[in-house]
Parts: sequence; structure tokens; C-alpha cells
Amino acid sequence: MLRKFLKQNYENSRKMYKNIYLKPGKDSSLRRFHPWVFSGAIAKIENGIEEGDIVRVIDAGGLFMAVGHYEYGSIAVRVLSFEDEEINDSFWFHRLANALTMRRNIGVISENNDTFRLVHGEGDVLPGLIIDIYGHTAVMQAHSVGMHRNRKEIVNALVKLMGEKLQGVYYKSEGTLPYQADLESEYGYLYGSECSNVALEYGLHFQIDWIKGQKTGFFIDQRENRRLLERYAKDRTVLNMFCYTGGFSVYALRGGARKVTSVDSSARAIEITDGNVEANFPDCKNHQSVVEDAFKYLSAMDNSNDLIILDPPAFAKHKDAIHNALKGYTRLNAKAFEKIKAGGILFTFSCSQAVNKDQFRLAVFTAAAQSHRYVRILHQLHQPADHPINIYHPEGEYLKGLVLYVE
Ligand code: SAH
Repeated sequence: MLRKFLKQNYENSRKMYKNIYLKPGKDSSLRRFHPWVFSGAIAKIENGIEEGDIVRVIDAGGLFMAVGHYEYGSIAVRVLSFEDEEINDSFWFHRLANALTMRRNIGVISENNDTFRLVHGEGDVLPGLIIDIYGHTAVMQAHSVGMHRNRKEIVNALVKLMGEKLQGVYYKSEGTLPYQADLESEYGYLYGSECSNVALEYGLHFQIDWIKGQKTGFFIDQRENRRLLERYAKDRTVLNMFCYTGGFSVYALRGGARKVTSVDSSARAIEITDGNVEANFPDCKNHQSVVEDAFKYLSAMDNSNDLIILDPPAFAKHKDAIHNALKGYTRLNAKAFEKIKAGGILFTFSCSQAVNKDQFRLAVFTAAAQSHRYVRILHQLHQPADHPINIYHPEGEYLKGLVLYVE
């Protein structure tokens, strides 16, 4: 039965999709299930293939390798399947169902947590696609032209999968698609409409602004790290630098912090932070927020903080920016080491994909040495389980953090 189905599907895919042929010897990464084909590996592209099309990849010996989305640029094909199959409604449904089953099986979704990432690109064998769930709303983001072209099929599959739980799918790709691509900039609700924008994370409430906010509106990827911070917050004086929605601040307050200061250079971020603190701790007297540049604030502040969080935006978006990014991380961390109280704890992060764990650790090490503080590593942090890394795609590891005890 399965054989017959696959054979039928194979016939369909052969009829439906055009081929891209690889140069000799350029198939080894695909044989290791790496999900990208670089443009330099391609010998020939069949006539009529357009950006965003689904294509079949054929090796130099004429053997089928993969089906994927074609795109102009250095990553020419993002692999959807290593089977010679049709990418149809059933394909999308099964991929999404598989992602949901994984989240259910690992216990991410619970009565006190309805905020999670359902699809994490390559990590869920759907390169170029992000879907975050906030209660009854899904926020979907395409990072490839192919996913943009398939957005309606994907939404249909998502609606079928989630049933009544889903009341709206907001599509937010205006900032994530390649700017050269000549695409109608469609964003807004592809299904349903706006409902409550309050999401529940481990029992705490957060207002999510998926329309104007950064990323899909919230940094879900810090959930487990925020929870860890809660354990360390009791009676501490906390500085949450680069606070955005105030996630770490709210957890610190629940953990019994003496005082929490949230700092961000964006006035809108501070407004959201204040709203989130108020929603969870009405009339809270021990939280203050400041609109200020991080470097200025750290230079001017006193030595009273004994729990500091540094969670800056990505300093390096590309490989050629790594050198300056590392200098930036060192400068930033050195300021925190200079000012943190003895016996203090520093949570420090990098979300730059281009900077690896060792490079980040070296930048922080350099900062510690410059400040002549004795520093121990308590935890090495990373992205949570609902942002999984495809084992064949190590590039998917992007969030790195260190928890340090500073004497
Ligand atoms: N820690 C947050 C996410 C941080 S995102 C969370 O858990 O949700 C990075 C934040 O840094 C953004 O809100 C941005 O406005 C802020 N930011 C960027 N440059 C800054 C600077 N120079 N000084 C202070 N904040 C800055």
C-alpha cells in the first residue's frame, strides 16, 4: 500500500516539478541530510524555473536527491523532503502535525503555558517557516519566497490541525522575505481575526503585540532561561538590560526580587514592560523602568545590582560582522563585570547565529579578565526545546547564554 502510494506520488512529483542538476561531487551534504543546496553546487537549472518554485534536485549521476523551494541567492534550494514526493495539502498537514506532536510529547503545552513555537524552520524540516502560537492566535513568518508562495496551503493545514483552538492566523513577513523578491507584500490575518492578545507563559501573563512588535511579538526562546532566573531572584537587586517586553523582570518579581529595574532604548518597549508588570503585579512598588541606551546606563549606574541580565539584539547578522560583534560583547560584559556587586549573578546572552558558543564565551572571558573579577560559570544556556536544532543542520543553534557567579 505504502509502496503504491509512494510510487504514485513519485510519478506526480516527476510530472509536476522541474529539475535542478548538481555538479559532480556536490551531493555530499545532501547525502548527510543537510537541508540546503548552495548556488555554487548547481550545474544546470531546467528552463522555466522561477523563484519560489518547488524543484527536484538531481545529482550528477541522474539520481533523485531532494525536493525543495528554489530561491535566488547563495542558498538556492531549501529542502522540504528527501523523498521524491508531491508537496501537497497532505504534506503540509503531516509536517505540522508532526511538529505539534513533538511539542505535546515533551510537555511544552500545558494549562499554565499556551505560548510556544510550533514550527522552527529547519528544526522542524520546514526551512524558511516560523509559526509561533500565542493562546488562540498563530503568528506565521516566511523567510523564503517558497514558503511565502505556499502560505495559503500552510494556513489551511494549520486550521485543520488546530481546530477550534485557533481563532486567527496573523501573517507577518514584510521584514523577513528577501527584499529583491518581487512579492505582493501581503500581511495581516490570513485566517480569522484578532482575539485576546494576552499569552500565558508558565502562569504569567504577557501582552503580545504581533503586529508592531519585534520578531513575532515576543521572545519565546527565553522562556526556560527566564524560569531559571526566577530561582535566583530572591532578595536580589535586579537589572534587566535590553528588557523589551519585560519578560525577565516579571519572572524576577515572581521570584521575590527586592527591586527590579528594566532598561531599554525603545520607549515602546518600556511601555509594554510596564503593562506586563502591572498585569501580573498590580501596584507593584519595587519595579522601575528607564528608557536609555545600555552603554550609557551601565556607565552611569551605581554598584547596587547583584543580578544583571544582558540580552542584547544580535550584534552580528552576517559572518563578516563577527569581529565587531565580539568586541561589542566584550565591551558590554566588561561594563557589567565592573559594576556588579560581589556575590552577584550575571545572565549574559548572544542571539547572533553567526557567533558560535566558543567565540561568545571567549568574548565574555576577555571581559571578565579585563575587570579583574573572579568568575565561575554556573550554567550554559541555549534555546529551548520548542526551538529544536535539526541534527543535520548545526547552523540552527543560535541562542547562547552563560550564568556567571561574580566575586
Ligand atoms: N530580553 C528580551 C529580548 C531583548 S530584544 C526578552 O526576554 O524578551 C533586544 C532589545 O534591545 C530590544 O527591545 C531593543 O529595543 C533593545 N535595544 C537595542 N539596542 C539597545 C541599546 N543600545 N540600549 C538599550 N536597549 C537596546
